[in-house]
Amino acid sequence: MSNAASSSSLSSAVEFSPTRHCDAPPTRQSVTKLRPYVPGKPIEDVKRELNLDDSVEIVKLASNENVLGPSHFAVEAMNRVLDGLWLYPDDSCFALKNKLAEFWKIAPETLVVGNGSDEIIHFLGMTFLDRERGDEMIFAEPSFVQYRACALLADCNFHAVPLTADMRHDLRAMKERVNENTRLIFIANPNNPTGTVVSHEEVAELLDGLPAHVVVVLDQAYYEYADPDVSADGLKFVREGHNVVVLHTFSKAYALAGLRVGYGIARPEIANALQQVRGPFNVNTLAQVAAIASLDDLEQVICACDLNEDGKEQLGAAFDEMGLGYVPTQANFILVDVGRDAKTVEMELMKRGVIVRTGFGLSTRLRVTIGTRAMNERFISSLREVLANA
Ligand code: PMP
Repeated sequence: MSNAASSSSLSSAVEFSPTRHCDAPPTRQSVTKLRPYVPGKPIEDVKRELNLDDSVEIVKLASNENVLGPSHFAVEAMNRVLDGLWLYPDDSCFALKNKLAEFWKIAPETLVVGNGSDEIIHFLGMTFLDRERGDEMIFAEPSFVQYRACALLADCNFHAVPLTADMRHDLRAMKERVNENTRLIFIANPNNPTGTVVSHEEVAELLDGLPAHVVVVLDQAYYEYADPDVSADGLKFVREGHNVVVLHTFSKAYALAGLRVGYGIARPEIANALQQVRGPFNVNTLAQVAAIASLDDLEQVICACDLNEDGKEQLGAAFDEMGLGYVPTQANFILVDVGRDAKTVEMELMKRGVIVRTGFGLSTRLRVTIGTRAMNERFISSLREVLANA
């Protein structure tokens, strides 16, 4: 029997029951400290786990996806290349880099493309963090969990600097943690899970006098949703020649989360170094063509941002009415304080077919992605019901 034919028998659940004893090999020490990323629960998992039948429409507001879906330009571009998928993708992402270079008016050598911006975060750790050298990194808490994972995997010391009382990055406190071993400072701008931003002046102050061995990463995954008048412009710092890496993704405003494509912009020496650790063909063909086509559809991004502004008002008004505190957001999600155990509220919402996110070390807060009017309404009415019954 061929391998292909025999592997098809694996589709039914089979328990692993080896016939001989063999000790499992030791992993790298740092791997034992890692905790798997916990994603927002997929709709199918919730249906299965809670035995919800198909009459319950599930609303997923847990992963900051763009509910409007991808541009039809992207869908058409993908359709055009389907027959060619037997070929490997363009390893260099030549066309996508050129498109991005034109879009941002930057040199293609300043770009590195990844399987989601998650992969670029991973590249940053692999490129700059050296345990033997005693390297350290700095990030805020709470912020995007993959920064911590990056330090843990490298087995490096890290400083998780608490946000200020109003849930903003405390860049001065972060700067105080810089020493001769600091290699990376991660700043999510807007921050996940708070939706808060750092201003251009605050970042300029951080960069002022910062030693050249420190790379500042401005993770701009939610860039399109933020008000440029109040949020730092990371690219300006790259253009000025700072050791800054700006991260962008097609997963949020461009609604291509399922394809996994993101990129970094940095001075060529840094971009080249990041390229060294990249695996071959890391960005698939569909992702490359869809990303290129999406950049021609700014209308779609504007629609996403308009819907987001509308939803922000809708949710803000509902929280005000319910007497719930929330953090003013510059992203496509809101962190709301439900004033009681948020995990219980999350579970009760899930039973009603609404998936949100808790955790982040914040016991009474939940993070809800801003959806369509109807989705937001489903969330609001379910939340009212849950809180009334608590
Ligand atoms: N950065 C931040 C701040 C995020 O919230 C996310 C996604 N949750 C990412 C990076 C990763 O995005 P992606 O890998 O889909 O590009």
